[in-house]
Order: sequence, then C-alpha cells, then structure tokens
Amino acid sequence: MRVKHRSGHVVGDDVVVRGEVLERLSRRTELRRRDAMGGIHLVGANLDVLGVVVSPSPPPPAGFIDRVIVAARAANMRPFVVVNKCDLDAAKGLIDVLRDTYNGAVSIFPLSAVTGEGLHLLRGFLGEGHRGAFVGTTGVGKSSLLNALCPEIDLRVGALNDYNGKGRHTTTVSTLHSLPDGGELVDTPGFQDFGLVDISVQDFADHFPGFEKTTEVRCRFRNCRHRTEPGCAVLELVARGEIRAERYGTYLDILREVERARDLSSDSSR
Ligand code: GDP
Ligand code: ZN
Repeated sequence: MRVKHRSGHVVGDDVVVRGEVLERLSRRTELRRRDAMGGIHLVGANLDVLGVVVSPSPPPPAGFIDRVIVAARAANMRPFVVVNKCDLDAAKGLIDVLRDTYNGAVSIFPLSAVTGEGLHLLRGFLGEGHRGAFVGTTGVGKSSLLNALCPEIDLRVGALNDYNGKGRHTTTVSTLHSLPDGGELVDTPGFQDFGLVDISVQDFADHFPGFEKTTEVRCRFRNCRHRTEPGCAVLELVARGEIRAERYGTYLDILREVERARDLSSDSSR
C-alpha cells in the first residue's frame, strides 16, 4: 500500500485499512520539533520514552537536561538520560553530578557508543517494549549511538527509499527501527540541539525533575509556580530540606527564562 507524502501520517502512527483508505487512529503521544524558521514539525507518533543524550565533551548546556525532561513529561513520554563517551576520564564527574541531581527522578544510562560498555543496560530497557527517540546537542554521539544500537540502520534507510520509489532525501525523513533485543527507535534527522518545541510555564512548574514528591504532598493551587504561593508543597519541601536549596535555585533560574521566552513570543504575535 502506498502512502502519500502529504497524507498527514507520521512515523509510528497506527492505522486501519478500509478499502483504499488508511484511517489513522488517535495518537497517544506526539513528538514535535521546531525548525530554524520557527515552524513546528511532527516527527513521530506514539513514542513512550525520550532519551536525552549528553556527554562530558561537549558538556550539556545549562538547563538543557531539565528542559528535555519537562518537555517529555508534558508530552506523556517517560524521559531518561544517556551519558555517552564514558570511555573518557571526564565522564565520571558528570555521572556523579547527574546521579546526585536526578536520583529517583529519571533513569540514567552511562555508556560508550564507541567501546560498547554499558550498552546492554540501555538495550535491556528499550527491550522492555519501549518506542523511543534521542535528543541531544550536536557532537554528543547520537548518530554513533543509533548505529551501535541498530546495526542494520543504513540498510533499513535504503529499503525505505526503494519503497518510496523516488530519490527523496532520506536524511530529512524520520524512520522507525526495530531493535534486535526488542523495542523501537525513531531516528529523527534535524531533531538536534534545542529542537524541542517550547515548554509552557505551567508545564515547567508541573514537571520539573526533583519535585516529584509534590505528587504526594500537593500544592494548594493547581497552577502553583512554587514562588510565594500559600500552601506550596515545593516551598514546604525546601524548608524541610527534602528538596535542596540549590536545586530549587536552578528551578527559579530556568522558570524565569521560560517566562521570558513566553513574554517574547506573545509580544511578537500581537
Ligand atoms: P551527534 O552529532 O550527536 O550525532 O554525534 P556523532 O555520533 O556524530 O559523534 C560526534 C563525535 O563524538 C564523533 O567524533 C564520534 O566519533 C565521537 N563519539 C561518539 N560516541 C563516542 C564515545 O562513546 N566515546 C568517544 N570517545 N567518542 C565518541
Ligand atoms: Zn507550589
């Protein structure tokens, strides 16, 4: 069956066939990216996990991991962290910091796409039946990681080209790869750097990694930004020392940036 390029279907969509027509079933999740011109593109559907890939060199920009985690959670995907290049000496310090920061909030997979160490743990996790994708800044090793996880990745890309029957640039098309040990990965060309769509201020306040305890002890107000609101569970946990003051400071820093980005975009749309 042929699917038209502009059919509105994306990688990962579930469909039913009715005669000559493909009927798309509703999506559980949608993974979007923003291009250099500010346009928003859907790059995959029905993903359930999103891996943020970081490395000691180049190191993650400030706030990058937190923003990806928030974006994933807001889109109903479970985030996890991959620390690539663990063969480098500088990796140890980064892993310690990340374990300290995200312990209990997200899973962390230290590994090396080059030596293969630690890869089996990630394979095992994806093999539980997850469909995922990777996000990360240029140079952290996303391509290397995909190649290490899906040995036949190039072959598959070629096969997709034949199927389309025309010389379309495969490098701009997302492709879905089944992994040998189970699970699936969506390869998302162009989905690099800060390619995620902007997160809203409320998403950020609701999903900041490290504030998970507030699902047990709730803020009085549903739209709490955890600043000065009465009955704020986050402020209470900070006062009790259950959320570190430093982590709360990071939250306030990024919250300010997210608010500024929102103010700028609402100005330009007026
Ligand atoms: P991408 O831009 O995120 O797709 O990163 P690439 O996969 O192109 O890798 C960027 C650079 O990092 C290349 O020179 C890779 O050889 C190198 N690299 C990737 N993975 C590793 C690793 O596990 N260890 C080391 N030492 N270098 C790596
Ligand atoms: Zn609060």
